[in-house]
Amino acid sequence: MQPRSFCEILLEGLATDGGLAMPDSYPRLTLANLARLRTLNYRDLAFEILSRFIDDIPAVDLKRLIDNTYTAKVFGSDDITPLKTLEPGLHLLRLSNGPTMAFKDVAMQLLGNLFEYVLAASKRELNILGATSGDTGSAAEYAMRGKRGVRVFMLSPHNKMSRFQSAQMYSLTDPNIFNIAITGVFDDCQDIVKAVSNDEAFKTRYHIGTVNSINWARVSAQIVYYFKGYFAATKSDTEQVSFAVPSGNFGNILAGHVARMMGLPIKHLILATNENNVLDEFFRSGRYRPRGSAEVQQTSSPSMDISKASNFERFIFDLVGRDAAKLRELWRAVDSGGEFTLAGTPLLDKMRTFGFISGTSTHADRVATLRAIHKKYGVMIDTHTADGIKVGLENRECDVPLICLETALPVKFGDVIKQALNVEPDYPESCRGIEQLPQRVDVMAPDVVAVKQYIEARCY
Ligand SMILES: *Cc1c(COP(=O)(O)O)cnc(C)c1O
Repeated sequence: MQPRSFCEILLEGLATDGGLAMPDSYPRLTLANLARLRTLNYRDLAFEILSRFIDDIPAVDLKRLIDNTYTAKVFGSDDITPLKTLEPGLHLLRLSNGPTMAFKDVAMQLLGNLFEYVLAASKRELNILGATSGDTGSAAEYAMRGKRGVRVFMLSPHNKMSRFQSAQMYSLTDPNIFNIAITGVFDDCQDIVKAVSNDEAFKTRYHIGTVNSINWARVSAQIVYYFKGYFAATKSDTEQVSFAVPSGNFGNILAGHVARMMGLPIKHLILATNENNVLDEFFRSGRYRPRGSAEVQQTSSPSMDISKASNFERFIFDLVGRDAAKLRELWRAVDSGGEFTLAGTPLLDKMRTFGFISGTSTHADRVATLRAIHKKYGVMIDTHTADGIKVGLENRECDVPLICLETALPVKFGDVIKQALNVEPDYPESCRGIEQLPQRVDVMAPDVVAVKQYIEARCY
């Protein structure tokens, strides 16, 4: 396949059916490179890392886009992703101080600015159509609000999100943001997005795109905080650390894998799943058996309730030595609803060299963990972060610092936190009273034709 530029991939990554773009090779950092990166603030670090992947935006423009994205105003502090030390050798990397209080803001905020820039340069416009059960939709809306050339049409299941999540999305009044509450479940929303995207003529005519988690630009923006966390937790560039990552679509931890391939001294990438433990099963046994959507359990860490992890194929591509034919062979079975296993093949041993360890966390585990962390350190965490910490602590090694990624603030999942701790979660200043604000949302039946008409009427 022809190599393509970063901006082409940025816009193509919008296609729901698009292949998974990857850089030709990973840039390798020397010890001298690491020593220099260690001295940089988040913005300069982001520029250094991202300019190794972004080949077609002039450096001055990229620097400006990054500087405008990662500000104390948007992320609460100049650290952007501050490291909180719970005890010596145990840290929490706080990724959820962006506008929607989940780690997805870190990449999505940059994406919003990149889109605006690329669309203006090519005189194009874009209508983002998405389905959300909570975090992705709000992160996308807060990243795209007020951006020239972009409209967002976000479908959400009527009355199925947490009160806080609904308020976050529906209280937006920007004229380029459209909230559509579908009287159905998340899968109905997803089906409408698929049906609209499969209508090529409509899609082309109305410049329809999506911002799903396979967008390579999102993965690349997430690489930065692995470096930031590493430097904050260590004193020299020869020390190793491990990261614990609560995983759903494998996007967050894939960025950790890339950081490790670039030469960041990561010993283990500790992957945590909830009861939907397809990935834990794979990393333990080599067997990859994605579930049907009917088999997906609804849990108290809902952003990790997935049937198959859309970014996982990128890791397998590296595992098979970037042999596209081998990858296609494995995915032929997966795409037809089947499975594959690496057990009994040399690939199983090779897999162990990539540093992954995994584990599963259940509802009882996450409740026990968030209680224990609150009691021992006085720190309130959310249910997803609790899954990561639970599996991280199980695999902690005494001489290797453990950095647990915080993926959301507890306020987003207030009911579970309140049940577990018997106290209301802390409310960040920026979202006090959000549930009382007027809401703007159109309620619609799960009807593809009606949704298309809705979009038509608003694109001129
Ligand atoms: C999206 C999300 C996850 C899962 O991240 P992936 O990149 O899909 O693995 C975990 N926790 C929270 C709070 C999320 O919003």
